[in-house]
Amino acid sequence: MTSATNNDVIPANIPTDTITDFKQLGLISPLLARLAELDYQQPTPIQAQSIPSILEGRDLIGGANTGSGKTATFALPLLQQVSQKAINAGKQGEGNFVSALVLVPTRELAKQVADSVRSYAVHFNGAIKTVAVFGGVSTNTQMLSLRGGCDILVATPGRLLDLISNNAIKLDRVKTLVLDEADRMLSLGFTEELTALMALMPTQKQTLLFSATFPEQVQTLTAELLNDPVEVQVQSADASTLVQRVFTVNKGEKTSVLAHLIKQNQWRQVLIFVNAKNNCEHLAYKLSKRDVVAEVFHGDKGQGARSRVLEAFKSGEIEVLIATDIAARGLDIEKLPVVINFDLPRSPSDYMHRIGRSGRAGEVGLALSLIDYEDYHHFKIIEKKNKIRLEREQIVGFEVDEAAIDELLAAEKPMAKPEGTGKKKAKKKLKNTPQVNTDIWSGYTESDE
Ligand code: AMP
Repeated sequence: MTSATNNDVIPANIPTDTITDFKQLGLISPLLARLAELDYQQPTPIQAQSIPSILEGRDLIGGANTGSGKTATFALPLLQQVSQKAINAGKQGEGNFVSALVLVPTRELAKQVADSVRSYAVHFNGAIKTVAVFGGVSTNTQMLSLRGGCDILVATPGRLLDLISNNAIKLDRVKTLVLDEADRMLSLGFTEELTALMALMPTQKQTLLFSATFPEQVQTLTAELLNDPVEVQVQSADASTLVQRVFTVNKGEKTSVLAHLIKQNQWRQVLIFVNAKNNCEHLAYKLSKRDVVAEVFHGDKGQGARSRVLEAFKSGEIEVLIATDIAARGLDIEKLPVVINFDLPRSPSDYMHRIGRSGRAGEVGLALSLIDYEDYHHFKIIEKKNKIRLEREQIVGFEVDEAAIDELLAAEKPMAKPEGTGKKKAKKKLKNTPQVNTDIWSGYTESDE
């Protein structure tokens, strides 16, 4: 094994914004060697600002745009911490205990995070045991892999509770807890499971929360979970690589517009979000009638099918994928060029998570939202909460009815004018609504460069 000592540690008081080298973060050589192999030239801002504090054992809230390198931000220090323990103990995880626990909201994310951790750990030569557990697959295999405990466990909460009730694993010796996609983990859907899991862990532990978004209701919960946390908020320097656009379309024309956009732009990899499992199937069917072949990805599909579809989409075998929000969290699809909101997400923070599937790690990406007049008001809320403001655009050949525009503006400012006075304003606005070519990238070049 490569030596686990590190003599390159810079004093803790170095300003983190001057850190341009992983060596300065205090990481040990097996990790540095791996980062060099992966051609990670320098730490991302969230990594530079968080890793030294995590290594010091501080609790931390990390807020950064999705795709900004959050996994490595917690994975590298976790590996360093457990490696020292594993090396000292001279063996892998003891008993059926776990040392570091990473909780994530979806199965795919559990697998992805565990794969990343294992990849960063290759130079520990098998000294660190990382296991992923999640629902939809056999518990037996997971129970077997947990035999003898593990150093780093990546889990979805429901399956973890099942395994605990089968005595497959114990949380009494958790030293570090990570909540990835923390706002989701702390939301109502996970409250019961999370409370049950927290009760099984020691109160004295390091807790790290990561998310692209921290809605207000979550902020009060974090105060209870964390002890004097370091707060790191970074706006990704790469944010500008993701272009967001919004198209107003007539009610009932979204599918035609979508098929038109896909064909016209010859997109080879596009992820489309809808709000319900049935909508996935329904939209796939309607697209097939327009000669666009699409696959679906949602929670009613078996785990085997989910994994196959995701792999085929990542490899480019599937070009158009229609998904529910289970695909919105954390999934890293390399160079995914286009994400489309066919249905708007209910929660404004989900908008950020969805569009964050594209434009990752500095790649150029495009996030489109299709809105009809019924979506108009909701999209304004999404913009307000996320502090963005996008120009409404229309697509040549699919111009919005004037009457619908009237309704749309009335919906925007329901109390602004007495009846009958909205029309003039509506017409004025209509003239100013840019009508764009459907070649999305040429549109982007003209307006943004
Ligand atoms: P994440 O936000 O953790 O999902 O990471 C997004 C992508 O960025 C992943 O493909 C990582 O492999 C990659 N990545 C993470 N940190 C770095 C870095 N410092 N330099 C280059 N790529 C990175």
